[in-house]
Amino acid sequence: MQRVIVVGGGLAGVRAVEALRSKGYEGALTLVSAERHLPYDRPPLSKAVLAGESDDTTVDADWDSLRCDLLLGERATGLRLAEPGRGGVVASTAGDLPFDGLVIATGAAPVTLPGDGRQHVLRTIDDARDLRSRLSGGARIVIIGAGWIGAEVATTAAARSCAVTVVEAADTPLANAIGPEVGALTAPWYAEAGVELRTGVKVAEVRDGGVLLAGGEEIPADVVVAGIGVRPDLSWLEGSGLLLERGVVTDAAFRAHQGEEEPGSARPDVVAVGDCAAWWSGRYGRRLLVEHWDTALNAPDVAAAALLGQDAAYDAAPYFWSEQFGRMVQYAGSHAASERLVHRGDPSGRKWAVVWLTGDRLDAILTVDRPRDLVQARRIIAAGTPVDPDAVADPEVPVRQA
Ligand code: FAD
Repeated sequence: MQRVIVVGGGLAGVRAVEALRSKGYEGALTLVSAERHLPYDRPPLSKAVLAGESDDTTVDADWDSLRCDLLLGERATGLRLAEPGRGGVVASTAGDLPFDGLVIATGAAPVTLPGDGRQHVLRTIDDARDLRSRLSGGARIVIIGAGWIGAEVATTAAARSCAVTVVEAADTPLANAIGPEVGALTAPWYAEAGVELRTGVKVAEVRDGGVLLAGGEEIPADVVVAGIGVRPDLSWLEGSGLLLERGVVTDAAFRAHQGEEEPGSARPDVVAVGDCAAWWSGRYGRRLLVEHWDTALNAPDVAAAALLGQDAAYDAAPYFWSEQFGRMVQYAGSHAASERLVHRGDPSGRKWAVVWLTGDRLDAILTVDRPRDLVQARRIIAAGTPVDPDAVADPEVPVRQA
């Protein structure tokens, strides 16, 4: 392999560059990214950056020793593929970029709502700086969506003495991510922080001066923030022949499928990784699209190995965290097919956890200010060893294998 192009300069992109070099790739390497900034970390954007405690989250990479050409502020606009294994050409705003190895790491972009009114999103450092400048005391902030981002923005806006209303279409916060039963346990945190939470309420459109609800009511606002999720922007890959669903469909080593998803259809010369990849998880026997930092950090190592023709597969259980309303919330595993939920401590208290079990198998855990539980459970989830369901319900007993 002589020429690798990495498209997307987020965490997955820079980690792919580092992994290729650390695995001995000596050929030409180019990173193309739509943003003008060097790759930076996004989690602090809705935390320290929004709070004004930090302004620079650039990833600490040694670009000289990585010998990587950076095409910043340039966007991939199309992809023409040769026969599998023979590379192709990325069409971009900087011209045609031929490659024999391609890493697709274009992440995801925020979803927005209908309407002509200004709606802020929070994906880039520029978004964060812009929103931060508007969070002045007394400003009326309406946040649409009580998901991870919505809760974190509400936390900071309330701490900056804004009048904050969060509008959520589901009946509880975080219903999609962790289910309504556990999501409901976080609802009291909003009132405690002085934030008005309105659930079961749909926004019809964003207008100048506020949001119009589906029922006809208008909520006035100085600033409207849409925190209703993200979607990979795969428009530049349309017509390329790659299999696209919500993300780029890949095998367990992040090799992109061409045509149908069937044995042998994964290309050896194209990988997709990070928020834009829908990868096959052997652990769960289904495809996962994980829009979290830990996957963007660790998966590129496997993708780089695959691109260099080495045997590789990614088998990690998902992990993420959120810092909201003065609490550290962490989650590991996947509860999508779990049999039951077990509480570990009183959820009206400051520190508690819940675990999802199937028989004596620990599928997933969510912890609130119980980092040790998270670490112990994560190890057990990774190993797949059984737990004692009674012991795991006792917050005084460490999470351990039966
Ligand atoms: P991205 O970081 O989205 O990077 C993709 C890059 O590709 C972008 O720079 C984009 O401009 C560029 N690009 C897109 N299309 C093109 C194109 N056609 N041509 C060239 N370049 C292109 N995760 C957690 O686990 N915990 C957290 O607390 C947490 N907090 C977060 C807070 C915020 C505000 C955000 C936005 C995300 C947070 N995340 C968190 C998620 C985590 O940051 C993402 O999972 C991670 O950034 C994904 O990295 P990525 O490299 O796949 O994609």
